[in-house]
Amino acid sequence: MTNATENAAGNAARHGFQAEVRELLRLMIHSLYSHREIFLRELISNASDANDKLRFVALAQPALLADEPELKIWIDYDKDAATLTIRDNGIGMTRDEAVAHLGTIAKSGTAEFFQRLTGDQQKDSALIGQFGVGFYSAFIVADEVEVLSRKAGEPASAGVRWASKADGEFTVEDLERADRGTAVVLHLKDDAKEFADPWRLRSLVTRYSDHIGFPVLMRKEGEAGLDWEPVNQAKALWTRPRSEIGDEEYQEFYRHVAHDFAEPLAWSHNKVEGKREYTSLLYVPGRAPFDLWQRDATRGLKLYVRRVFIMDDAVQFLPLYLRFIRGIVDSNDLPLNVSRELLQRDAEVEAMRAALTRRVLDMLAKLAKDEPEKYAAFWKEFGNVIKEGIAEDAGNRERILPLLRFASTHDEGNEPKTALADYVARMKEGQAKIYYVIAETVDAARGSPYIEKLRERGVEVLLMGDRVDEWVMGQVREFDGKQFKDAARGDLDLGALADPADAGTPTDEAAKQNEGLLKRIKDALGERVAEVRVSTRLTDSPACLVLAEHDLSSQLRKILAATGQTPPEGKPVFELNLAHPLVQRLDTTAAGSDFDELALLLFDQARLAESGSIANPGEFVRRLNRLLGQLMR
Ligand code: ADP
Ligand code: MG
Repeated sequence: MTNATENAAGNAARHGFQAEVRELLRLMIHSLYSHREIFLRELISNASDANDKLRFVALAQPALLADEPELKIWIDYDKDAATLTIRDNGIGMTRDEAVAHLGTIAKSGTAEFFQRLTGDQQKDSALIGQFGVGFYSAFIVADEVEVLSRKAGEPASAGVRWASKADGEFTVEDLERADRGTAVVLHLKDDAKEFADPWRLRSLVTRYSDHIGFPVLMRKEGEAGLDWEPVNQAKALWTRPRSEIGDEEYQEFYRHVAHDFAEPLAWSHNKVEGKREYTSLLYVPGRAPFDLWQRDATRGLKLYVRRVFIMDDAVQFLPLYLRFIRGIVDSNDLPLNVSRELLQRDAEVEAMRAALTRRVLDMLAKLAKDEPEKYAAFWKEFGNVIKEGIAEDAGNRERILPLLRFASTHDEGNEPKTALADYVARMKEGQAKIYYVIAETVDAARGSPYIEKLRERGVEVLLMGDRVDEWVMGQVREFDGKQFKDAARGDLDLGALADPADAGTPTDEAAKQNEGLLKRIKDALGERVAEVRVSTRLTDSPACLVLAEHDLSSQLRKILAATGQTPPEGKPVFELNLAHPLVQRLDTTAAGSDFDELALLLFDQARLAESGSIANPGEFVRRLNRLLGQLMR
């Protein structure tokens, strides 16, 4: 953490910043220069959080507020000294807290985050915005920052002064007298003196504090005296009627709750009245947070009860697959002393969770319908999280399925553009099923031999290349009354779509005619396959391996293997394309080693196309080269 050396003065101590903080300071000062006014948002946000926290603890200990019951925020500047001060009368910090909170970064995943930084300024500045820079952003505009603080409930003599010049160190010392709460004093850099200008400051403060539920005060224009006036509405944004709130205000509030620089893609603000009363304001972020896939990542909504802030990260109000949603919920019914434990088993909360989940799904459906481009951006960031909902939230499956997007043989490129409804609308006359194929990547799916016949018949196939797809598709049966059909499994069921030319030689008959060949191949492959049969799905490839409808796929097998499980080895069916020259050649090759070699080669090829790897690549290459060598003779 930090190391301290007491200095001669007795109570002053010097500490080194945590290594990550040092790195953050260095990067931030350089990469956020062009957005440097954001420091003010962060500091006002912290002041507001501090007031929120005091109001919360004062529920149980009203005496904490007694000396100064009204919670406020003050912004002041001194043009001559080039200082800017942001002060609150909230919770404050003890000396130990100042050292811990202003010297380290407590967020989970911090180390991983720093590993992801590239050194490319533009990329890093976007990442840093996503990480949430917080207090340290003060150093973008200040070459020295002082924090004077006193914890609520402590005597006036228990204050602390924290100071740093961002040179890798900070100092802390006791103060003889301090007010309740925290004052952050910025000593502005030469090129940042504009922030001590009343006009510039006022416009920024208004922008960054209008949605905040406490009065933010500035000195009256042109007066050096004690006359302060509020510059914001001092009404929490979500308590105001929707019709009175502009997009900019919603966006600004998003930055406050989400600690995200980027704009949200959508939001939904609702007041529920009647048996149950609450207000929610939910946002869909524009991009995934850096810790979206981390188990211990922070998630959840900010919870308020009757306008009083209760807690951050209340996870009980949305399911895990909607963990990227940011926002607040303000309940009129929950008790003010509600705890996390209580939230977990409260029927009221359960009902709110169901309603909020619906609300989010509706918001996403609306976004998909009204703003498909934004929805495409959303899907790119969060699609794989939404897919989890298929399994996690079976009750809403009918709402989640229309939100899915897939790459398709119908579309150019591998972007997932096709919704199931698009697919169904494009289905061919006589087509009964929704065909899909899953491979390691979308490219591999597109080139898969399993869909050759479907392509030839002009039947659209959904192309999937994500690890989760196998698992997701295992959960769903149908959409809009049409069954899903994995092109790599069982019978293709082409039904009315079957090739009229094939009709003359039904596979049964073809099988009968080629009984000898099929038997010889089965003998050559032995226990590797369950059966050898004539294929209806191939046009270009000589052979493929087909799983039974409920066999584990090789993808799923790999996932299980990675978790240490060894699933039973299922035996695939080996399907042959009788029209292929290699298969015809096999038919005319006498039994013996050449026949076996060629059969094994076709088998390995099929395995390669199916799973992307084979058991013994060295042997495969030697076999291939031996046969090629014979050709060249
Ligand atoms: P965050 O606000 O996301 O926690 P910050 O970097 O903005 O991160 O702040 C770090 C911590 O410093 C806060 O969590 C809080 O504990 C403390 N802090 C910052 N500003 C204040 C303040 N005005 N009053 C009390 N504590 C504060
Ligand atoms: Mg903060």
